[in-house]
Amino acid sequence: MAIALESYAQDRWVTPAGRGVEIPSAIDGHVVATCSSDGLDFGAMVRHARNVGGPALRAMSFHERADKLRALAGYLNERKDVLYRLSAETGATARDNAFDVDGGIGTLFAYASRGRRELPSERFVVEGGVETLSKSGGFVGTHILTPLHGVAIHINAFNFPCWGPLEKFAPAFLAGMPVITKPATATAYVAEALVRLVVESGILPNGALQLICGATGDLLDHLTGQDVVSFTGSLETSEKLRNHPAIGRNAVRYIAERDSLNAAILGPDAERGTEEFALFIREVVREMTVKAGQKCTAIRRAFVPRAFQAEVVRALKDALESVTIGPPAGEETRMGALVSRSQRDAVREAIREIAREAEVVSGDPNAELAGLEGGAFMSPVLLRCDRPAEATAVHTVEAFGPVATVMPYDRLEQAVELVARGEGSLVASLYTYDPGTAATVALGIAPFHGRLLIVDRDCGREQTGHGAPLPGLVHGGPGRAGGGEELGGLRGVFHYMQRTAIQGSPKQLSALTRSWIRGAPAPATERHPFRLDFDVLKVGDTIETQSRTISLEDIEHFAHFTGDTFYAHMDEEAAAANPFFPGRVAHGYLILSFAAGLFVDPPPGPVLANYGLDNLRFLKPVSPGDAIRVRLTVKSKNAARQPDYGEVRWDAEVFNQNRETVARYDLLTMNARPAVAS
Ligand code: NAP
Repeated sequence: MAIALESYAQDRWVTPAGRGVEIPSAIDGHVVATCSSDGLDFGAMVRHARNVGGPALRAMSFHERADKLRALAGYLNERKDVLYRLSAETGATARDNAFDVDGGIGTLFAYASRGRRELPSERFVVEGGVETLSKSGGFVGTHILTPLHGVAIHINAFNFPCWGPLEKFAPAFLAGMPVITKPATATAYVAEALVRLVVESGILPNGALQLICGATGDLLDHLTGQDVVSFTGSLETSEKLRNHPAIGRNAVRYIAERDSLNAAILGPDAERGTEEFALFIREVVREMTVKAGQKCTAIRRAFVPRAFQAEVVRALKDALESVTIGPPAGEETRMGALVSRSQRDAVREAIREIAREAEVVSGDPNAELAGLEGGAFMSPVLLRCDRPAEATAVHTVEAFGPVATVMPYDRLEQAVELVARGEGSLVASLYTYDPGTAATVALGIAPFHGRLLIVDRDCGREQTGHGAPLPGLVHGGPGRAGGGEELGGLRGVFHYMQRTAIQGSPKQLSALTRSWIRGAPAPATERHPFRLDFDVLKVGDTIETQSRTISLEDIEHFAHFTGDTFYAHMDEEAAAANPFFPGRVAHGYLILSFAAGLFVDPPPGPVLANYGLDNLRFLKPVSPGDAIRVRLTVKSKNAARQPDYGEVRWDAEVFNQNRETVARYDLLTMNARPAVAS
């Protein structure tokens, strides 16, 4: 029996008022589900996200939200079989599920880790350094990022019903923004099952996630400048949404990931027999057949040296003709079906357009495959276009299926020009062992791409492939691919936040950002700050040390003890001839070591370990006879992943006897939190 899909609105499942559209199975055409959003109150959904989801999310720190993402990923990981089973109806094989289902869950894990590691245990981010805005440093500025107070609307393409929603949800949730997700109808039953698992987990706060199965009605009319629309799909739909009056009028943030005619380029050095040639063939075949080519990152255009073209076509044809096509459950199946027969019609139509400029050299786009007549199966189709410089369709018509065109180039510069004819793409991959070729092509085509992959024998085994976007790297592309949005890593999170410049006195900004800024009060603590537990220690707590005079014997001793007998420390005449030094000077590392000797508090205590220095600068030479002392101030604190300790960043400044700064750095320590651990 067909599943009657429901939407999840205002924290409850809503049965649609009407039966809605029927969604056919990709395998045999039977109706898998029906889908309609009739009866949904879209305005109420937006208000619910704003009034319930937003405040609940913003009450949490980044670390709390990251922990929820991790818990959710773990929960889904244990229950993904239901998603695999349903995905089979979309034509997806086990290999395809590794991208969609496992890839989506992996994205949650990746954002959870980044959130814990790279974002503070706060509800806002201080971005960049502090700008001094007045002569004496009494007026300073910095930037903060705070979550928008609206809702993130995520509209997804049919091809990744799990990865698509999760890849968008993770950064929005981490930023502190509630989401309304709308899957494409063709595969909405997989996305609905995913959201059911999320809801059942009970991990997310109310209002954090809502689901629309079916059309979006008047949803966009309710959006304001605090909202974000993130769209994935075709260029045509994207333009319709971007031009929606509410989006323009209210300056709603709009991100689009759209069509992309991605390229693979075989270098002139990568002749048959080289590993690069084999890697190129393997990747083109993989990209044509994974998800039956229904991938935004799939290789559509393969550029090869003219002299190799015949061999490339032969190798691709051999490999493609050996791909077993069939139902995902089949043991031998390497490639499943397209999502629907109507999608197959669209692909056939696109091939017809491309074939006006190119010749089909492998596969029959119009053949019904024996024994698979009821479904949306088709063989991979390889085309060859011998005059790509004079062609248009090969560079601009996206056949969103198992389709690619091989094209020759004569010179590298020509390959660069041809790749750019794609009008902006998500990704291109280059197969060469020659660094010169790599540099020419990569620098030439980079402005037209969000991501480039250089594949050679050295990384051949480890590289993740042309089509695999990685959570830490840019996903998105310029021009046709959507407009150059950079949605990888923390930028994806920050897209859901407002960046605000904030100016004032060091005292005000230190208090607001909970990060000590030079010029703010630095009260000396009664007890040495190394005796204070993480949770007792306050930002601004300071120790000012005694001074220590550095003698020539100290420098000699340090030089011989460490083996660092560089002339600037050992040879008066040679040192004096150096433009930076008045004569023999102390080693920078001696200054650091003596500074530690001055500020350390030796017995066991809350400071567990020194784990590094950041931003170290030696600003003035220290000569024999100079006396140094240190001011050490708690700059910021960050709760670590483990509950029993936290990270403390100290501002360290080393002065000489004239109060001139000789060295400055951030010292990083791990400090115990016994109260939390017990
Ligand atoms: P599509 O037809 O443009 O649909 C995309 C989404 O927009 C679907 O959820 C669709 O819902 C929705 N939609 C359509 N009209 C709408 C409207 N008037 N208002 C609100 N939502 C509307 O694209 P598709 O066929 O699903 O996906 C294939 C395309 O996506 C390909 O061109 C591919 O290149 C592109 N894609 C790009 C990326 C990328 O990262 N650049 C990734 C994946 C796919 P319904 O299904 O209910 O109509």
